[in-house]
Amino acid sequence: MADHGLDDIPTVCPHCTSPQDGLLCVCSAGKSPVLVVEMSQTSSIGSTDIFASQERKKERNSSRESSLKDLSIKSSNVERKPQPQRSRSNVTEGKIPHIRMDNGADIEEFYTFGRILGQGSFGMVIEAIDKETGAKWAIKKVNKDKAGSSAVKLLEREVNILKTVKHQHIIHLEQVFESPQKMYLVMELCEYGELKEVLDQKGHFSENETRLIIQSLASAIAYLHNKDIVHRDLKLENIMVKSSFIDDNNEVNLNIKVTDFGLAVQKHGSRSEGMMQTTCGTPIYMAPEVINAHDYSQQCDIWSIGVIMYILLCGEPPFMANSEEKLYELIKKGELRFEDPIWDSISDSAKNALKQLMKVDPAHRITAKELLDNQWLTGNTLSSARPTNVLEMMKEWKNNPESDEDTNTDEETEQRTVYHPSAKTAKQPTDAAKKPDANSVDMASSDSKSNKLLSTEIKAEPEKSSGTVSHSAVTKSSLKSATLFRGKKRL
Ligand code: ADP
Repeated sequence: MADHGLDDIPTVCPHCTSPQDGLLCVCSAGKSPVLVVEMSQTSSIGSTDIFASQERKKERNSSRESSLKDLSIKSSNVERKPQPQRSRSNVTEGKIPHIRMDNGADIEEFYTFGRILGQGSFGMVIEAIDKETGAKWAIKKVNKDKAGSSAVKLLEREVNILKTVKHQHIIHLEQVFESPQKMYLVMELCEYGELKEVLDQKGHFSENETRLIIQSLASAIAYLHNKDIVHRDLKLENIMVKSSFIDDNNEVNLNIKVTDFGLAVQKHGSRSEGMMQTTCGTPIYMAPEVINAHDYSQQCDIWSIGVIMYILLCGEPPFMANSEEKLYELIKKGELRFEDPIWDSISDSAKNALKQLMKVDPAHRITAKELLDNQWLTGNTLSSARPTNVLEMMKEWKNNPESDEDTNTDEETEQRTVYHPSAKTAKQPTDAAKKPDANSVDMASSDSKSNKLLSTEIKAEPEKSSGTVSHSAVTKSSLKSATLFRGKKRL
């Protein structure tokens, strides 16, 4: 799929045709001097709804521009540069204004800052009200000098990626203000905080509640993967909750947003060139191939979705140990346990989805696109008709190949009982043993999936320079998740 946005800033001034090196030109075609405003394109979505919102944005941007003009009277030594024109033929593309200013405090001309929403690693996130519209936003404020160059690199990476995406379950970046010292990211406000906090209050989610969350997450990740973007740090702390309601069945429906794209990468070139090697992420969510520093691809995000789903369902991570080293060993083995009594009430279909998400070999792991069709995710587990021909059977097996695995379940349980010291002495019958799986199809195992990804191809990571950045992020992330090693119950 074509890349959007990052390379789309004109390299030649439309007015004087001088080279621009990614910025807009200060040429005589520019009118009265104000501020440098760069506009980045978001992805093409192609719906009338988007068109309408772009029109609204256009109106808003023009009024924002007049406010900026006022500001020019107060600001000295600032220049206005011409903005690229939006054309009708480009109606499905949006623009994220990137406003350069001399003084960071000038942002207060536009926003009234309120309560602190959270303290991040490099700065704080503050609730702010747009003085013009009254709309509430979350503004991430980073002091570039204090944060340091590695942090600024992460932030720029986040901004560049957020400028190119538009999805209902990915945090929306409204605009960026930047001064020599400060950077402000104006993002949509998620009043309910992190999904981790909601989970901490609830203990765990029901299967239906989890399904809704994973549906949203899968849709966001399939969208990103389709654009060759790999998030690389999916975890409960990076999923924000925008709104929530209780439905007729007394179940919580959460509107979630994937956030924190500091470790995300946009792959370029052929598949093998798009492989990555930097070990980064947060230990309990890290895929085996990332730990092994093998060439890995977007499939690492799928593993993390599995970890998230497991935690949502039972309240605990799938792998826990009292040292990072031991944790990595458990992850590399990838033996999922469903022994806690809580799993007795969870469907085989959900467990099979987990097994598909957390296959140790990324080539055998379900893809984001396939996940969207998974029977557990679509909720078709009870009503699905039996396949009537071989093609349908193969398709069903591809999405839910539980039958060949479930035949081993007793043996696996036995091994786990020996392996896990806290396991009960009496062997628990598995769900598969208790009742037949309505969706299982008795088909022989096939190797057809193994050619999805040639994980043995060894190629250099395209973003070698990010190694130090990612390393510092690992340290930060490890600290963040340290509580996971301390207590079993506490997330
Ligand atoms: P970090 O640097 O640790 O990744 P962030 O700087 O992104 O964290 O965010 C710090 C805190 O601010 C988060 O823990 C979260 O509670 C809060 N926060 C971040 N983004 C938003 C948002 N869009 N809406 C509401 N709160 C947010």
